[in-house]
Amino acid sequence: MEKKKVVYRRHDRNPIPLLPPEIRKNTFKEYALGLGHTAAKDEANRCILCKKPPCQEHQGKYGCPVYGDINLWMEQIQNNNLIEAMKILRAKNPFPSVCGRVCPQDRLCESTCVLTFKDNGQAVNIGGLERFVGDSIRMSGIQWKDPQDPPTGKKVAVVGAGPAGLSAAYFLAKKGHSVVVFEALPFTGGVMRYGIPTARLDREVLDWEISLIEKLGVEIKTGIKVGKDISLNELRKQFDAVFIGVGSGRGKKMGIPGEDLKSVYTAISFLMKANVDYVDDMLAPDVDIELPRNKKVAVIGGGFTAADCMYTSIRLGNETHLVYRRTRDTSSARQEEWDHLAEEGAILHWLTQPIEVIGNEKGEVVGLKCIKMELVPDEKGGRPKPVEVPGSEHIIECDAVIMAVGQGDNPLAYKDVEGLNIDKWNNLSTVDKKFRTNVEGIFAGGDVVNGGDTVVVAIRHGRDAAESIHEYLMTKEWKYGED
Ligand code: FAD
Ligand code: SF4
Repeated sequence: MEKKKVVYRRHDRNPIPLLPPEIRKNTFKEYALGLGHTAAKDEANRCILCKKPPCQEHQGKYGCPVYGDINLWMEQIQNNNLIEAMKILRAKNPFPSVCGRVCPQDRLCESTCVLTFKDNGQAVNIGGLERFVGDSIRMSGIQWKDPQDPPTGKKVAVVGAGPAGLSAAYFLAKKGHSVVVFEALPFTGGVMRYGIPTARLDREVLDWEISLIEKLGVEIKTGIKVGKDISLNELRKQFDAVFIGVGSGRGKKMGIPGEDLKSVYTAISFLMKANVDYVDDMLAPDVDIELPRNKKVAVIGGGFTAADCMYTSIRLGNETHLVYRRTRDTSSARQEEWDHLAEEGAILHWLTQPIEVIGNEKGEVVGLKCIKMELVPDEKGGRPKPVEVPGSEHIIECDAVIMAVGQGDNPLAYKDVEGLNIDKWNNLSTVDKKFRTNVEGIFAGGDVVNGGDTVVVAIRHGRDAAESIHEYLMTKEWKYGED
Protein backbone atom coordinates (compact mmCIF):
# COMPACT_ATOMS: atom_id res chain seq x y z
CA MET A 1 0.00 0.00 0.00
CA GLU A 2 1.24 3.47 -0.83
CA LYS A 3 2.46 5.36 2.25
CA LYS A 4 0.42 8.49 3.06
CA LYS A 5 2.51 11.63 2.54
CA VAL A 6 2.90 13.70 5.72
CA VAL A 7 2.12 17.37 5.12
CA TYR A 8 3.79 19.83 7.49
CA ARG A 9 1.44 22.80 7.80
CA ARG A 10 3.88 24.93 9.75
CA HIS A 11 2.41 28.37 9.30
CA ASP A 12 -1.38 28.28 9.35
CA ARG A 13 -2.15 27.86 13.06
CA ASN A 14 -5.73 28.73 14.01
CA PRO A 15 -5.41 31.25 16.83
CA ILE A 16 -7.96 31.51 19.64
CA PRO A 17 -10.29 34.45 18.86
CA LEU A 18 -10.21 37.13 21.55
CA LEU A 19 -12.69 39.81 22.56
CA PRO A 20 -11.36 43.14 21.22
CA PRO A 21 -9.22 44.96 23.83
CA GLU A 22 -11.62 47.92 24.06
CA ILE A 23 -14.43 45.57 25.09
CA ARG A 24 -12.54 43.06 27.21
CA LYS A 25 -10.79 45.61 29.42
CA ASN A 26 -14.21 46.60 30.78
CA THR A 27 -15.52 43.13 31.58
CA PHE A 28 -14.62 40.16 33.77
CA LYS A 29 -16.15 37.87 31.11
CA GLU A 30 -13.71 35.32 29.68
CA TYR A 31 -11.89 37.15 26.91
CA ALA A 32 -10.42 34.19 25.00
CA LEU A 33 -13.45 32.82 23.17
CA GLY A 34 -12.25 29.36 22.18
CA LEU A 35 -12.08 27.62 18.80
CA GLY A 36 -15.30 26.92 16.93
CA HIS A 37 -15.88 23.49 15.37
CA THR A 38 -14.57 24.37 11.90
CA ALA A 39 -11.37 25.98 13.16
CA ALA A 40 -10.84 23.20 15.72
CA LYS A 41 -11.14 20.47 13.10
CA ASP A 42 -8.75 22.30 10.81
CA GLU A 43 -6.31 22.84 13.67
CA ALA A 44 -6.42 19.18 14.70
CA ASN A 45 -5.68 18.27 11.08
CA ARG A 46 -2.39 20.19 11.34
CA CYS A 47 -1.18 17.59 13.84
CA ILE A 48 0.89 14.95 12.02
CA LEU A 49 0.19 12.37 14.79
CA CYS A 50 3.83 11.64 15.63
CA LYS A 51 4.42 8.06 16.72
CA LYS A 52 6.65 9.29 19.58
CA PRO A 53 5.24 12.78 20.18
CA PRO A 54 7.70 15.11 21.92
CA CYS A 55 4.77 17.23 23.18
CA GLN A 56 3.80 14.52 25.63
CA GLU A 57 7.17 13.64 27.04
CA HIS A 58 8.04 15.64 30.09
CA GLN A 59 11.79 15.88 29.72
CA GLY A 60 12.34 17.52 33.08
CA LYS A 61 11.22 20.86 31.72
CA TYR A 62 9.45 20.57 28.38
CA GLY A 63 6.38 18.72 27.14
CA CYS A 64 3.10 18.06 28.92
CA PRO A 65 3.64 17.37 32.65
CA VAL A 66 0.66 14.97 32.82
CA TYR A 67 2.03 13.05 29.79
CA GLY A 68 -1.41 13.50 28.16
CA ASP A 69 -1.69 11.15 25.15
CA ILE A 70 -1.90 14.13 22.83
CA ASN A 71 -1.52 12.24 19.52
CA LEU A 72 -4.32 9.84 20.51
CA TRP A 73 -6.93 12.45 21.43
CA MET A 74 -5.86 14.64 18.52
CA GLU A 75 -6.57 11.72 16.17
CA GLN A 76 -10.04 11.37 17.70
CA ILE A 77 -10.80 15.02 16.88
CA GLN A 78 -9.64 14.32 13.31
CA ASN A 79 -12.10 11.36 13.32
CA ASN A 80 -14.98 13.49 14.69
CA ASN A 81 -15.08 11.50 17.93
CA LEU A 82 -14.98 14.00 20.77
CA ILE A 83 -16.33 11.52 23.31
CA GLU A 84 -13.35 9.24 22.74
CA ALA A 85 -11.03 12.28 22.83
CA MET A 86 -12.51 13.24 26.22
CA LYS A 87 -12.05 9.72 27.61
CA ILE A 88 -8.37 9.79 26.62
CA LEU A 89 -7.88 13.24 28.14
CA ARG A 90 -9.61 12.39 31.42
CA ALA A 91 -7.63 9.19 31.85
CA LYS A 92 -4.63 11.40 32.70
CA ASN A 93 -6.15 14.68 33.89
CA PRO A 94 -9.49 15.61 35.51
CA PHE A 95 -9.13 19.26 34.42
CA PRO A 96 -8.67 19.37 30.62
CA SER A 97 -10.93 22.41 30.13
CA VAL A 98 -9.06 24.31 32.85
CA CYS A 99 -5.60 23.27 31.60
CA GLY A 100 -6.50 24.15 28.01
CA ARG A 101 -7.04 27.68 29.30
CA VAL A 102 -4.38 28.24 31.96
CA CYS A 103 -1.36 26.04 31.14
CA PRO A 104 1.70 27.93 29.87
CA GLN A 105 1.62 25.81 26.69
CA ASP A 106 4.34 27.94 25.08
CA ARG A 107 6.86 26.42 27.47
CA LEU A 108 5.18 23.00 27.93
CA CYS A 109 3.44 20.86 25.29
CA GLU A 110 3.55 23.37 22.42
CA SER A 111 7.23 24.20 22.91
CA THR A 112 8.25 20.78 21.60
CA CYS A 113 5.80 20.39 18.70
CA VAL A 114 7.70 19.16 15.61
CA LEU A 115 6.05 21.85 13.46
CA THR A 116 8.22 24.40 15.30
CA PHE A 117 11.48 22.64 14.43
CA LYS A 118 11.96 24.42 11.07
CA ASP A 119 11.23 27.73 9.31
CA ASN A 120 9.87 29.42 12.47
CA GLY A 121 6.94 27.03 12.37
CA GLN A 122 3.95 27.44 14.67
CA ALA A 123 2.96 24.67 17.07
CA VAL A 124 -0.41 22.94 16.89
CA ASN A 125 -2.77 24.86 19.19
CA ILE A 126 -2.83 22.02 21.74
CA GLY A 127 -4.24 24.11 24.57
CA GLY A 128 -7.02 25.48 22.39
CA LEU A 129 -7.98 21.99 21.24
CA GLU A 130 -7.91 20.52 24.74
CA ARG A 131 -10.27 23.27 25.83
CA PHE A 132 -12.41 22.65 22.74
CA VAL A 133 -12.93 18.98 23.65
CA GLY A 134 -13.84 19.76 27.26
CA ASP A 135 -16.14 22.66 26.35
CA SER A 136 -17.88 20.64 23.61
CA ILE A 137 -18.71 17.77 25.97
CA ARG A 138 -19.83 20.15 28.74
CA MET A 139 -22.15 22.05 26.41
CA SER A 140 -23.43 18.97 24.59
CA GLY A 141 -25.65 17.98 27.51
CA ILE A 142 -24.03 14.53 27.76
CA GLN A 143 -24.18 13.39 31.38
CA TRP A 144 -20.51 12.53 31.74
CA LYS A 145 -19.42 9.94 34.29
CA ASP A 146 -15.89 8.56 34.49
CA PRO A 147 -15.34 4.82 34.87
CA GLN A 148 -14.76 3.62 38.44
CA ASP A 149 -13.53 0.39 40.08
CA PRO A 150 -15.72 -1.35 42.70
CA PRO A 151 -15.45 -0.06 46.31
CA THR A 152 -12.35 -1.18 48.22
CA GLY A 153 -13.58 -0.21 51.71
CA LYS A 154 -10.48 1.99 52.20
CA LYS A 155 -10.80 5.64 53.27
CA VAL A 156 -8.51 8.52 52.35
CA ALA A 157 -8.54 12.10 53.67
CA VAL A 158 -7.34 14.84 51.31
CA VAL A 159 -6.38 18.20 52.80
CA GLY A 160 -6.92 21.11 50.38
CA ALA A 161 -9.31 21.36 47.42
CA GLY A 162 -6.87 22.91 44.94
CA PRO A 163 -5.75 21.12 41.76
CA ALA A 164 -3.35 18.79 43.65
CA GLY A 165 -5.94 17.68 46.24
CA LEU A 166 -8.80 17.37 43.76
CA SER A 167 -6.66 15.41 41.31
CA ALA A 168 -5.61 13.00 44.08
CA ALA A 169 -9.27 12.66 45.11
CA TYR A 170 -10.34 11.93 41.51
CA PHE A 171 -7.78 9.20 40.86
CA LEU A 172 -8.34 7.62 44.29
CA ALA A 173 -12.12 7.56 43.78
CA LYS A 174 -11.62 5.98 40.35
CA LYS A 175 -9.72 3.17 42.09
CA GLY A 176 -12.78 2.59 44.32
CA HIS A 177 -11.51 4.25 47.50
CA SER A 178 -13.76 6.43 49.60
CA VAL A 179 -12.41 10.02 49.71
CA VAL A 180 -13.21 13.05 51.88
CA VAL A 181 -11.60 16.39 50.99
CA PHE A 182 -11.16 18.96 53.79
CA GLU A 183 -10.93 22.54 52.53
CA ALA A 184 -10.25 25.56 54.75
CA LEU A 185 -12.01 28.14 52.58
CA PRO A 186 -15.78 28.24 52.02
CA PHE A 187 -15.30 27.19 48.37
CA THR A 188 -13.38 24.64 46.29
CA GLY A 189 -10.70 25.03 43.60
CA GLY A 190 -7.81 26.68 45.50
CA VAL A 191 -5.94 29.19 43.33
CA MET A 192 -8.09 28.22 40.32
CA ARG A 193 -10.99 30.01 42.06
CA TYR A 194 -9.56 32.66 44.36
CA GLY A 195 -6.46 33.54 42.29
CA ILE A 196 -7.08 33.25 38.56
CA PRO A 197 -9.59 35.90 37.39
CA THR A 198 -12.82 34.93 35.66
CA ALA A 199 -11.54 36.86 32.63
CA ARG A 200 -9.13 33.93 32.10
CA LEU A 201 -11.15 31.05 33.54
CA ASP A 202 -14.94 31.00 33.46
CA ARG A 203 -16.21 29.56 36.76
CA GLU A 204 -18.84 27.42 34.99
CA VAL A 205 -15.92 25.47 33.51
CA LEU A 206 -14.23 24.99 36.88
CA ASP A 207 -17.49 24.08 38.62
CA TRP A 208 -18.30 21.48 35.97
CA GLU A 209 -14.92 19.75 36.18
CA ILE A 210 -15.14 19.69 40.00
CA SER A 211 -18.72 18.33 39.80
CA LEU A 212 -17.44 15.37 37.74
CA ILE A 213 -15.05 14.54 40.60
CA GLU A 214 -17.94 14.72 43.09
CA LYS A 215 -19.96 12.42 40.80
CA LEU A 216 -17.48 9.69 41.71
CA GLY A 217 -18.63 9.96 45.33
CA VAL A 218 -15.86 12.30 46.55
CA GLU A 219 -17.17 14.29 49.52
CA ILE A 220 -15.82 17.84 49.85
CA LYS A 221 -16.13 19.52 53.25
CA THR A 222 -15.46 23.25 52.94
CA GLY A 223 -14.78 25.72 55.77
CA ILE A 224 -12.63 23.27 57.77
CA LYS A 225 -9.08 24.33 58.60
CA VAL A 226 -7.00 21.26 59.25
CA GLY A 227 -4.62 22.06 62.12
CA LYS A 228 -7.26 24.31 63.70
CA ASP A 229 -10.75 22.80 63.38
CA ILE A 230 -9.48 19.22 63.23
CA SER A 231 -5.92 17.95 63.62
CA LEU A 232 -4.05 15.93 61.05
CA ASN A 233 -3.39 13.33 63.76
CA GLU A 234 -7.16 12.94 64.17
CA LEU A 235 -7.52 12.46 60.40
CA ARG A 236 -4.83 9.78 60.54
CA LYS A 237 -6.93 7.90 63.11
CA GLN A 238 -10.12 8.17 61.05
CA PHE A 239 -8.64 7.40 57.61
CA ASP A 240 -6.29 4.79 56.12
CA ALA A 241 -4.11 7.45 54.47
CA VAL A 242 -3.86 11.24 54.21
CA PHE A 243 -2.82 13.42 51.25
CA ILE A 244 -1.69 16.99 51.97
CA GLY A 245 -2.25 19.45 49.10
CA VAL A 246 -2.43 22.78 50.91
CA GLY A 247 -0.58 24.92 48.35
CA SER A 248 2.33 27.25 48.86
CA GLY A 249 1.00 29.57 51.47
CA ARG A 250 0.35 33.16 52.30
CA GLY A 251 0.81 36.23 50.18
CA LYS A 252 3.85 38.25 51.20
CA LYS A 253 5.41 41.66 50.69
CA MET A 254 8.94 42.61 49.63
CA GLY A 255 10.41 44.17 52.74
CA ILE A 256 10.94 47.68 51.26
CA PRO A 257 10.29 50.99 53.05
CA GLY A 258 6.72 52.29 52.83
CA GLU A 259 5.08 48.91 52.18
CA ASP A 260 2.94 49.19 55.33
CA LEU A 261 1.01 52.13 53.87
CA LYS A 262 -2.72 51.50 53.53
CA SER A 263 -2.98 50.93 49.78
CA VAL A 264 -0.14 48.43 49.48
CA TYR A 265 -1.57 44.92 49.06
CA THR A 266 -0.23 41.42 48.66
CA ALA A 267 -1.38 39.92 45.37
CA ILE A 268 -3.29 37.16 47.19
CA SER A 269 -5.30 39.64 49.29
CA PHE A 270 -6.08 41.74 46.21
CA LEU A 271 -7.09 38.78 44.01
CA MET A 272 -9.14 37.07 46.73
CA LYS A 273 -11.07 40.27 47.38
CA ALA A 274 -11.68 40.80 43.64
CA ASN A 275 -12.47 37.17 42.73
CA VAL A 276 -14.46 35.86 45.68
CA ASP A 277 -14.96 38.88 47.95
CA TYR A 278 -13.64 36.80 50.82
CA VAL A 279 -10.16 37.38 52.20
CA ASP A 280 -8.94 34.75 54.66
CA ASP A 281 -6.06 35.57 57.00
CA MET A 282 -4.71 32.02 56.68
CA LEU A 283 -3.59 32.95 53.14
CA ALA A 284 -3.75 36.73 52.93
CA PRO A 285 -2.35 39.20 55.45
CA ASP A 286 -4.52 42.23 54.51
CA VAL A 287 -8.04 41.03 55.24
CA ASP A 288 -9.84 44.33 55.46
CA ILE A 289 -9.11 45.93 52.09
CA GLU A 290 -10.86 48.17 49.66
CA LEU A 291 -10.13 47.57 45.99
CA PRO A 292 -8.58 50.49 44.08
CA ARG A 293 -10.93 51.72 41.33
CA ASN A 294 -10.21 54.36 38.69
CA LYS A 295 -6.79 55.04 40.21
CA LYS A 296 -3.15 54.50 39.25
CA VAL A 297 -1.87 51.11 40.32
CA ALA A 298 1.63 49.58 40.20
CA VAL A 299 1.87 45.78 40.18
CA ILE A 300 5.27 44.34 41.14
CA GLY A 301 6.31 40.93 39.75
CA GLY A 302 6.63 38.98 36.49
CA GLY A 303 4.72 35.71 36.91
CA PHE A 304 1.16 34.42 36.54
CA THR A 305 0.15 36.20 39.71
CA ALA A 306 1.39 39.57 38.50
CA ALA A 307 -0.39 39.10 35.16
CA ASP A 308 -3.64 38.22 36.97
CA CYS A 309 -3.35 41.31 39.18
CA MET A 310 -2.84 43.37 36.00
CA TYR A 311 -5.96 41.97 34.28
CA THR A 312 -7.99 42.57 37.42
CA SER A 313 -6.68 46.07 38.07
CA ILE A 314 -7.34 47.15 34.45
CA ARG A 315 -10.91 45.84 34.72
CA LEU A 316 -11.42 47.90 37.89
CA GLY A 317 -10.74 50.96 35.75
CA ASN A 318 -7.18 51.65 36.93
CA GLU A 319 -4.24 52.94 34.91
CA THR A 320 -2.05 49.90 35.54
CA HIS A 321 1.75 49.61 35.52
CA LEU A 322 3.81 46.43 35.68
CA VAL A 323 7.17 46.76 37.39
CA TYR A 324 9.54 43.81 36.97
CA ARG A 325 13.27 43.60 37.62
CA ARG A 326 13.99 41.20 34.76
CA THR A 327 13.04 41.15 31.05
CA ARG A 328 9.78 40.06 29.44
CA ASP A 329 11.28 36.88 28.00
CA THR A 330 12.70 35.82 31.36
CA SER A 331 9.32 36.32 33.08
CA SER A 332 7.39 33.18 33.94
CA ALA A 333 3.88 34.14 32.76
CA ARG A 334 2.74 33.09 29.29
CA GLN A 335 4.45 35.42 26.83
CA GLU A 336 1.15 36.14 25.05
CA GLU A 337 -0.28 37.49 28.32
CA TRP A 338 2.00 40.54 28.07
CA ASP A 339 0.75 41.19 24.52
CA HIS A 340 -2.85 40.90 25.70
CA LEU A 341 -2.20 43.24 28.62
CA ALA A 342 -0.38 45.80 26.46
CA GLU A 343 -3.36 45.80 24.07
CA GLU A 344 -5.58 46.56 27.07
CA GLY A 345 -3.46 49.60 27.92
CA ALA A 346 -1.07 48.17 30.53
CA ILE A 347 2.20 50.08 30.91
CA LEU A 348 5.06 47.58 31.21
CA HIS A 349 8.32 48.58 32.95
CA TRP A 350 10.89 45.80 32.39
CA LEU A 351 14.30 45.77 34.10
CA THR A 352 12.93 47.98 36.87
CA GLN A 353 13.33 47.29 40.58
CA PRO A 354 11.09 48.99 43.19
CA ILE A 355 13.04 50.30 46.18
CA GLU A 356 10.48 52.30 48.18
CA VAL A 357 6.78 53.05 48.32
CA ILE A 358 6.38 56.80 48.70
CA GLY A 359 3.57 58.17 50.88
CA ASN A 360 2.28 61.69 51.60
CA GLU A 361 1.64 63.34 54.98
CA LYS A 362 -1.83 61.69 55.11
CA GLY A 363 -0.26 58.25 54.77
CA GLU A 364 -1.55 57.77 51.21
CA VAL A 365 0.55 56.15 48.50
CA VAL A 366 1.70 58.70 45.92
CA GLY A 367 4.41 56.80 44.05
CA LEU A 368 6.80 53.90 43.73
CA LYS A 369 10.50 54.72 43.75
CA CYS A 370 12.38 52.43 41.37
CA ILE A 371 15.83 51.88 39.92
CA LYS A 372 16.69 50.55 36.46
CA MET A 373 18.40 47.17 36.22
CA GLU A 374 20.57 45.44 33.65
CA LEU A 375 21.19 41.74 33.24
CA VAL A 376 24.75 40.48 33.62
CA PRO A 377 25.90 36.92 32.90
CA ASP A 378 26.01 34.64 35.94
CA GLU A 379 29.59 33.49 36.63
CA LYS A 380 28.32 30.05 37.60
CA GLY A 381 26.50 29.66 34.27
CA GLY A 382 22.99 30.18 35.72
CA ARG A 383 20.28 32.68 34.72
CA PRO A 384 21.67 36.19 34.00
CA LYS A 385 21.49 38.32 37.13
CA PRO A 386 19.76 41.71 37.36
CA VAL A 387 22.04 44.42 38.80
CA GLU A 388 21.23 48.06 39.52
CA VAL A 389 22.20 50.81 37.06
CA PRO A 390 23.73 53.55 39.27
CA GLY A 391 21.95 56.92 39.17
CA SER A 392 18.83 55.56 37.43
CA GLU A 393 16.39 56.11 40.31
CA HIS A 394 12.97 57.40 39.23
CA ILE A 395 9.40 57.53 40.53
CA ILE A 396 6.33 55.91 38.99
CA GLU A 397 3.29 57.89 40.15
CA CYS A 398 0.57 55.67 41.66
CA ASP A 399 -2.10 55.52 44.38
CA ALA A 400 -1.84 51.81 45.14
CA VAL A 401 0.79 49.06 44.94
CA ILE A 402 0.21 45.32 44.58
CA MET A 403 3.10 42.98 45.41
CA ALA A 404 3.06 39.76 43.40
CA VAL A 405 6.46 38.57 44.58
CA GLY A 406 5.86 34.98 45.68
CA GLN A 407 4.33 33.48 48.76
CA GLY A 408 5.35 32.68 52.33
CA ASP A 409 4.56 29.51 54.24
CA ASN A 410 1.31 28.03 55.58
CA PRO A 411 2.19 24.92 57.58
CA LEU A 412 -1.02 25.05 59.69
CA ALA A 413 -2.25 21.63 58.53
CA TYR A 414 0.88 19.63 59.33
CA LYS A 415 3.07 21.59 61.75
CA ASP A 416 1.94 19.50 64.75
CA VAL A 417 2.65 16.08 63.25
CA GLU A 418 5.39 14.57 65.36
CA GLY A 419 8.53 13.62 63.49
CA LEU A 420 7.35 14.98 60.10
CA ASN A 421 10.26 16.29 58.01
CA ILE A 422 9.42 19.94 57.28
CA ASP A 423 12.01 21.83 55.18
CA LYS A 424 13.54 25.25 55.93
CA TRP A 425 10.74 26.98 53.99
CA ASN A 426 8.17 25.14 56.18
CA ASN A 427 7.15 23.10 53.11
CA LEU A 428 7.16 19.35 52.45
CA SER A 429 9.81 19.16 49.72
CA THR A 430 11.22 16.17 51.60
CA VAL A 431 8.66 13.79 50.06
CA ASP A 432 10.19 10.95 48.05
CA LYS A 433 9.56 10.16 44.37
CA LYS A 434 6.26 8.52 45.28
CA PHE A 435 5.06 11.58 47.22
CA ARG A 436 5.47 9.78 50.57
CA THR A 437 6.50 11.88 53.55
CA ASN A 438 8.72 10.27 56.16
CA VAL A 439 5.64 9.55 58.34
CA GLU A 440 3.73 6.40 57.44
CA GLY A 441 0.38 7.03 55.78
CA ILE A 442 1.00 10.73 55.00
CA PHE A 443 1.54 11.83 51.38
CA ALA A 444 1.88 15.34 49.93
CA GLY A 445 1.96 17.04 46.52
CA GLY A 446 1.47 20.29 44.59
CA ASP A 447 2.83 23.67 45.62
CA VAL A 448 3.40 22.55 49.23
CA VAL A 449 6.09 20.25 47.83
CA ASN A 450 7.60 22.29 44.98
CA GLY A 451 7.08 25.76 46.51
CA GLY A 452 4.91 26.95 43.58
CA ASP A 453 4.71 25.78 39.98
CA THR A 454 1.72 25.31 37.68
CA VAL A 455 -1.81 23.93 37.87
CA VAL A 456 -0.86 21.01 35.61
CA VAL A 457 2.17 20.05 37.72
CA ALA A 458 -0.05 20.07 40.83
CA ILE A 459 -2.48 17.80 38.96
CA ARG A 460 0.31 15.37 38.09
CA HIS A 461 1.50 15.30 41.70
CA GLY A 462 -2.06 14.52 42.84
CA ARG A 463 -2.41 11.77 40.24
CA ASP A 464 0.94 10.12 40.90
CA ALA A 465 0.43 10.40 44.67
CA ALA A 466 -2.97 8.68 44.25
CA GLU A 467 -1.23 5.79 42.48
CA SER A 468 1.23 5.53 45.31
CA ILE A 469 -1.50 5.79 47.98
CA HIS A 470 -3.38 2.99 46.21
CA GLU A 471 -0.27 0.82 46.30
CA TYR A 472 0.13 1.53 50.03
CA LEU A 473 -3.53 0.81 50.82
CA MET A 474 -3.37 -2.51 48.99
CA THR A 475 -0.03 -3.70 50.42
CA LYS A 476 0.36 -1.71 53.67
CA GLU A 477 4.07 -1.52 52.86
CA TRP A 478 5.80 1.75 53.69
CA LYS A 479 9.16 2.26 52.00
CA TYR A 480 9.92 5.98 52.37
CA GLY A 481 12.84 6.94 50.13
CA GLU A 482 12.91 3.68 48.19
CA ASP A 483 12.16 3.47 44.42
P1 FAD B 1 -3.65 25.55 45.80
O1 FAD B 1 -4.24 25.83 44.50
O2 FAD B 1 -3.04 26.69 46.56
O3 FAD B 1 -4.75 24.86 46.72
C1 FAD B 1 -4.49 24.56 48.08
C2 FAD B 1 -5.81 24.52 48.83
O4 FAD B 1 -5.54 24.07 50.17
C3 FAD B 1 -6.47 25.88 48.96
O5 FAD B 1 -7.81 25.80 48.57
C4 FAD B 1 -6.32 26.21 50.43
O6 FAD B 1 -7.40 26.98 50.94
C5 FAD B 1 -6.32 24.83 51.06
N1 FAD B 1 -5.70 24.80 52.40
C6 FAD B 1 -4.59 25.43 52.81
N2 FAD B 1 -4.36 25.18 54.12
C7 FAD B 1 -5.36 24.37 54.54
C8 FAD B 1 -5.67 23.77 55.79
N3 FAD B 1 -4.91 23.96 56.87
N4 FAD B 1 -6.80 23.01 55.87
C9 FAD B 1 -7.59 22.80 54.78
N5 FAD B 1 -7.33 23.35 53.56
C10 FAD B 1 -6.21 24.12 53.46
N6 FAD B 1 -0.57 28.07 37.19
C11 FAD B 1 -0.87 27.81 35.90
O7 FAD B 1 -0.59 26.72 35.42
N7 FAD B 1 -1.50 28.73 35.12
C12 FAD B 1 -1.90 29.92 35.61
O8 FAD B 1 -2.47 30.72 34.87
C13 FAD B 1 -1.63 30.22 36.97
N8 FAD B 1 -2.04 31.39 37.51
C14 FAD B 1 -1.82 31.62 38.83
C15 FAD B 1 -2.31 32.78 39.39
C16 FAD B 1 -2.11 33.04 40.74
C17 FAD B 1 -2.67 34.28 41.32
C18 FAD B 1 -1.35 32.13 41.54
C19 FAD B 1 -1.13 32.39 43.01
C20 FAD B 1 -0.86 30.97 40.99
C21 FAD B 1 -1.09 30.71 39.63
N9 FAD B 1 -0.64 29.53 39.05
C22 FAD B 1 -0.94 29.25 37.75
C23 FAD B 1 0.03 28.50 39.86
C24 FAD B 1 -1.01 27.43 40.27
O9 FAD B 1 -2.23 28.04 40.53
C25 FAD B 1 -0.54 26.62 41.46
O10 FAD B 1 0.71 26.03 41.13
C26 FAD B 1 -1.56 25.53 41.80
O11 FAD B 1 -2.81 26.08 42.11
C27 FAD B 1 -1.07 24.69 42.98
O12 FAD B 1 -2.07 23.78 43.32
P2 FAD B 1 -2.20 23.21 44.81
O13 FAD B 1 -3.38 22.32 44.80
O14 FAD B 1 -0.89 22.67 45.24
O15 FAD B 1 -2.47 24.49 45.74
FE1 SF4 C 1 -0.50 21.19 27.17
FE2 SF4 C 1 -1.40 21.62 29.67
FE3 SF4 C 1 -2.81 20.13 28.00
FE4 SF4 C 1 -0.53 19.21 28.99
S1 SF4 C 1 -2.37 19.66 30.16
S2 SF4 C 1 -1.24 19.07 26.81
S3 SF4 C 1 0.71 21.10 29.10
S4 SF4 C 1 -2.37 22.29 27.73
